[in-house]
Amino acid sequence: MILLIAKTATKEHLDNIIANLALLGLAGRTVAAGGSLVVAVAGDTRGMPTHRFSSLPGVEKVVRFDPQCPLVLESSPAPVQIGTQVIIGEGQPVIMAGPCAVESRQQIATIAEAVRISGASMLRGGIWKPRSSPYDFTGLGEPALEHLAAAGEAAGLPVVAEVMSPEQVQVAEPYLDMLQIGARNMYNYELLKAVGRTNRPVLLKRSFSATLTELLQAAEYIMLAGNPRIVLCERGIRTFEGFTRNTLDLSAVPALKSLSGLPVVVDPSHATGRRELIRPMARAAIACGADGLLIEVHTDPASALSDSAQAIIPETLRQIVDDVHRLCWALAGADDSLVAVESIAHGVKEPVASGTLPGLPLAGFALPRTPY
Ligand code: PEP
Ligand code: MN
Repeated sequence: MILLIAKTATKEHLDNIIANLALLGLAGRTVAAGGSLVVAVAGDTRGMPTHRFSSLPGVEKVVRFDPQCPLVLESSPAPVQIGTQVIIGEGQPVIMAGPCAVESRQQIATIAEAVRISGASMLRGGIWKPRSSPYDFTGLGEPALEHLAAAGEAAGLPVVAEVMSPEQVQVAEPYLDMLQIGARNMYNYELLKAVGRTNRPVLLKRSFSATLTELLQAAEYIMLAGNPRIVLCERGIRTFEGFTRNTLDLSAVPALKSLSGLPVVVDPSHATGRRELIRPMARAAIACGADGLLIEVHTDPASALSDSAQAIIPETLRQIVDDVHRLCWALAGADDSLVAVESIAHGVKEPVASGTLPGLPLAGFALPRTPY
């Protein structure tokens, strides 16, 4: 990697750049090249976002060689707007909730209203369900799109649902405010390109066998096709543990946030598969910096046609919304010391407000704008 140094840069700026590189375990050497100065950086910078370097005073441009996903790694922190009222990644965590699947027009309308009253800000609901067994309920299909959109509209909540093929993208796009790529389809490159050609924000779930690099590469496909509005979702990975459905990899949240500017949300429902674990893991997700939660909720969990064991009731959702609100306030106070540490690491003398420094791992914790 090479840093092109601005003509206006001072000796102090250069010293600060070299010192910051050293903090990251990198060696910087200043070289005069054709009347300009550049800093040649030695060391592995692949996992480091470009804005970590471009934000250093005195750096005019960052030139990288052969990164695996340049668009994603170089993305600056970019909140993603859903519909007209919801923004993910702006500070206040966004809670998306709803049933695993849309089961009937009445079912989704009732749950949508319960989700609204609980204080969540988006409605989810499966249209076409990817099921491990073809004999299980695989969703109502196209009619469910209409039901979901109508329920969302009536409750004033933007809607998100999974699409599994480029054909489904075409059919679903007019009805949905956000397109979801499920864990099983994170490696479906034609599908990634298809959602990349739309202008809808995309909720990209990590596959249960995917490394963080593979998840970011999947995001790169979407961005390369023209759509930068991507929210990453950690939903648990497959391990030797069988008590939970998957193992929720919470370290992925701060790791992904430091690697790219994309918002990261957590799905504790598919991660654990057990309703009693959803609330504690939702709290943990917010505490480690998640920009939101994706949660399965049902007004009658016992009768749910899919993922019944992980469906929580609306009252638990209300408690989670309350938890998130309290945690944000608590963490906003705790953030001050972290901001100071990060400020020093970025060569900034005075601590600055949370969220204004690139790569700040806890930038998700700003004071809530409005109480739930
Ligand atoms: C879902 O969110 O509806 C879903 C099927 O989850 P995942 O793709 O994470 O298994
Ligand atoms: Mn489900």
